[in-house]
Amino acid sequence: MACLLTRTAIVIGGGIVGASVSYHLIKLGIKTTLYDDAREGNATTAAAGIISPETSHYKDPAWFQLALKSGMFYGPFIVELGLENRSNVYSKVGELTIALNANEIESYNNTRDLVNSRHLKYGYPASDEMYEIEPQEAKQYFPGIAPVKKAFYNKNAARIHGGELRDHIVQSANKKGLKIINETVDGLRMVEGKATGIISDTITEADYVIITGGAWSSLFAEQLDLKPFVEPQRGQIAQVKLLDLVDNNYCILRAFQGHYLVPWENGHFVIGATRELNSGFDPIKTIRGVQEVFREGIRVFPALENAELIEVKVGLRPRSIDDLPILGRVPNYENVILGTGMGPSGLQLGPYCGKILAELITGSKLIDISNFNIGRFSK
Ligand SMILES: Cc1cc2nc3c(=O)[nH]c(=O)nc-3n(C[C@H](O)[C@H](O)[C@H](O)COP(=O)(O)OP(=O)(O)OC[C@H]3O[C@@H](n4cnc5c(N)ncnc54)[C@H](O)[C@@H]3O)c2cc1C
Repeated sequence: MACLLTRTAIVIGGGIVGASVSYHLIKLGIKTTLYDDAREGNATTAAAGIISPETSHYKDPAWFQLALKSGMFYGPFIVELGLENRSNVYSKVGELTIALNANEIESYNNTRDLVNSRHLKYGYPASDEMYEIEPQEAKQYFPGIAPVKKAFYNKNAARIHGGELRDHIVQSANKKGLKIINETVDGLRMVEGKATGIISDTITEADYVIITGGAWSSLFAEQLDLKPFVEPQRGQIAQVKLLDLVDNNYCILRAFQGHYLVPWENGHFVIGATRELNSGFDPIKTIRGVQEVFREGIRVFPALENAELIEVKVGLRPRSIDDLPILGRVPNYENVILGTGMGPSGLQLGPYCGKILAELITGSKLIDISNFNIGRFSK
């Protein structure tokens, strides 16, 4: 076995997952090349940026363990990248989960009970970090909020600017020796049934190929004897600015129809997002999508009616068949590693999953990821 310093890797796709894999491979001393074609509709650039594994609705225990560790990884990773004072990239602003009307109370109670049961099981987060508040207190957390029926607060929740974080990770890896090629990878190079590299404008060989192509990752399925394993789920999301905003002390607001508000600096808010199944790969903005996002935003925060529209973004979430991430080596092609399928949670999971996948090559195991192997689909 070659020593780490002589091993080579190619990463296909430089979203949040590929950026983190590349960064951690370089840190391990593996000679790495990242291929990324920055295609329109990439999810990382469009993401809202909510990091709050504690309040997630996912019931799968393995997913929750992964999400929890991913959340704990964030703070130290931000410090490692020197971004701890860059509130335009990362900031712990807290999150309020709310039920606004009687129809939402059942969903609210289910989520609160799930969160509380996990709290009892794992002892995390501490009781003074996540708690239910009286409805009338909600406006202290989010001035101008519509009257709520129920609310709980998670102090640990953070917001992250996906595109900025990805760029910082890639630049930092680049300074340490990452080679970046802005080209489309058309296929894997197969020699005698083994993946020996990739085909782009040229053929490039490597010991390992890591596929982190987001919603487009299934392009390589057939060559690896796999069925398509991810599909795009379109999300439309708007950025607005509230003029004359005096109070700048807002938390993230999560309502119960899959929508949310993320506060940014100087009166900016992100209102998200549609979740469009069977959307295909077309990253278009639709009247219906934009209307849905604004309707829900104004419902929870009426002042938005007078906000200035800055932009509408569209991203394609990489959604796996069972809504769980796809992580790890491909059966029968052990030097090919998959890192995708993180759906609506890729910003939360991506940085830590990138480290997990890079460390697979060295044989170290940060966490058991066997539940997320692609092999689960062929059982
Ligand atoms: C509207 C919206 C809101 C979201 N909000 C949140 C949130 O609040 N919190 C959260 O945790 N997650 C959120 N997500 C989900 C998160 O954005 C994604 O799960 C995550 O960004 C996926 O990252 P990725 O690296 O897998 O894919 P992507 O970011 O899509 O990156 C894939 C990259 O691969 C490149 N690529 C693909 N194929 C090739 C090829 N053949 N050759 C070269 N390059 C290739 C693409 O150009 C792209 O740059 C949101 C997503 C959307 C759309």
